Amino acid sequence: MAYKCFDCPRNCGAIRDGSSGKGFCGGGELIDVAKVMRHMWEEPCIGGDKGVENVFLYGCNLKCVYCQNRKINGTSDDFDKSRLMRLDPPGFAELLVTSSQTDAASVGIVTGDHFIRQISKAVTEDIRSRISKPIVFNCGGYQKPDMLELLKDRVDIFMPDFKYVDKDLAGTLSRAKDYPSVCLRAIEKCFEITGPAVFGEDGLMKKGVLVRHLILPGHINNTLGVIDKLNETFRPGDIVFSLMSQYVPVSGFCPPPGFEKLSGGISKAEYKKAKAYLENASNITLGYTQDPASSSSGFIPDF
Ligand code: SF4
Repeated sequence: MAYKCFDCPRNCGAIRDGSSGKGFCGGGELIDVAKVMRHMWEEPCIGGDKGVENVFLYGCNLKCVYCQNRKINGTSDDFDKSRLMRLDPPGFAELLVTSSQTDAASVGIVTGDHFIRQISKAVTEDIRSRISKPIVFNCGGYQKPDMLELLKDRVDIFMPDFKYVDKDLAGTLSRAKDYPSVCLRAIEKCFEITGPAVFGEDGLMKKGVLVRHLILPGHINNTLGVIDKLNETFRPGDIVFSLMSQYVPVSGFCPPPGFEKLSGGISKAEYKKAKAYLENASNITLGYTQDPASSSSGFIPDF
């Protein structure tokens, strides 16, 4: 049934009905699936050596100007929208079940932020009992705690970004000046839902929160601030942190004035500084860093 949407902190009040594209995120009443594909480059504790069977959703409630998945965030003409699968909750649930019946380590829902309401209806107790591996909810970190609560017992691992502690950066690059406080609260809520990270004997994560941060070229202080905030908020073993250095300017990207460094990659000095800072963050004991050699567009899924 159509509804007026205030599901995320945008509070744009768009009517979510059978046709998509009205609100900031572009989501309608049905779940728009852009692609299902095996992704081999998620963190080792999520994908192991088999990877994650990822269900990529279309649209986004952030639409960062440098988005690495721009083709499917709703701002690019390069994606043929006739390829979208538009699924109601039962249809999406069956897709998740099918996606779980592969040899992948886990099933991922990628950029599910603007479809939480629908996903929570899809993943019923019965559906959950048919999926024997972790469901990973991969999101941008711009959510309301009460919406995240709807995913309790439905997903096992929350994988939110923590993109910014710098309000101005968040305002310019993602039109969300309130992102820093909203995101920290969202991560705290995810942790409240799952508790500390749990790993199986196979070394794979079964439950918990994995926070990702992509280092942005020219904005290393933002990265250090993110590490500080997480270090102040959590205790050893609570969360897993992934420091990502894979930033690449995507095709057609034009940086806003004053952000010209986003046209290149991160420097070795920036990476070294972030890595050393992280090593001194005594409350962040689980996690990953990524060699800058990873900053290749080959790591961006082909949509
Ligand atoms: S989820 Fe989408 S439609 Fe709803 S408030 Fe957020 S941006 Fe607007």
